[in-house]
Amino acid sequence: MLLESSVRARRGAEQAGASRVAHAQGTTATLSDSSPVPAARFTLHPRGPYSLAAGARFLEGFAPAAHEAAAEGHLHLAFPGPRGEPAGVCLRQEDDQTVVGEVFGAADPGFVRTEAQRILSLDHDGSGFAAVGERDPVIGRLQTRFAGLRPVLFHSPYEAAAWALIGHRVRIVQAARVKARMATELGEPVDVHGDVRNAFPAPGRLADIETFPGLVGRKAEWLRALGRAAGAGALDAAHLRSLAPDRALGELQELGGIGPFSAELILLRGAGEVDRIPAAEPRLGRAVALAYGDEREPTRAEVAERAESWRPYRTWVAVLLRAALEDETGEIGGRPYGA
Ligand SMILES: [Zn+2]
Repeated sequence: MLLESSVRARRGAEQAGASRVAHAQGTTATLSDSSPVPAARFTLHPRGPYSLAAGARFLEGFAPAAHEAAAEGHLHLAFPGPRGEPAGVCLRQEDDQTVVGEVFGAADPGFVRTEAQRILSLDHDGSGFAAVGERDPVIGRLQTRFAGLRPVLFHSPYEAAAWALIGHRVRIVQAARVKARMATELGEPVDVHGDVRNAFPAPGRLADIETFPGLVGRKAEWLRALGRAAGAGALDAAHLRSLAPDRALGELQELGGIGPFSAELILLRGAGEVDRIPAAEPRLGRAVALAYGDEREPTRAEVAERAESWRPYRTWVAVLLRAALEDETGEIGGRPYGA
């Protein structure tokens, strides 16, 4: 809620760094005097239009992230570092689009920067994205409506895979509760600007779990195997993106409990593959029908044909379409985008 009101404030306010002012004056509850000093600072320079606020709104409506808003204009993230140490980052956006990151916790700042860049889809050049909207006016209108929105990814392919396993055959809200509880009980805390967040348990920790409340059937066994595979590097984003997508999906499906839908989620929403139609996404057909005013839901082949004009950003367009559908139905996050 706090972030949403801050988003409105940012829109209305002179873009004279409202968030920086709030930050410097410590005017928000979470920025206490005991707020730690960042270990490092970095900047990311988006190529093409980018809005951190649009991404944050998307994240808030996205139950798997179980995301709680931080102080005004701040996006706070926590995730396990390469050796299981907690990594925290505060992300803010300057008037000139630059994203400023402040690093907290013991993890290597270079690692945190790379992860933040991937999570925000800032490791892709978006300067050709507007041309998609010029070719396809329906997409052009969505680009205006959700200005600067790019996919906000899971903290890692590993965390996306864990989400897929936890969420197997249970309702999203229930899965989100279990995942949040695993972070609280098994993950490491990190203080980001006085806002203490727990990272999801590192692969080594997951490889050890016997059982956990809410994990039924073979889920604990699958998560242990995932922890081992991730520890061995099989879930590294760079590795997955170095493979041809079909090969990457094949490798992912060798993991216990990971089918085509989950593999695709891991590749698109974890590794950040940018130009692939989410074939296993059941809502995409409806989203396309809604956006284009089709009387019936298109077949997969028809979606694929239409998506030719979305290249080379087919994943990003799918996210815009999903945001528009979510706006209508509120079915994933339980409330509309930005509401
Ligand atoms: Zn912050």
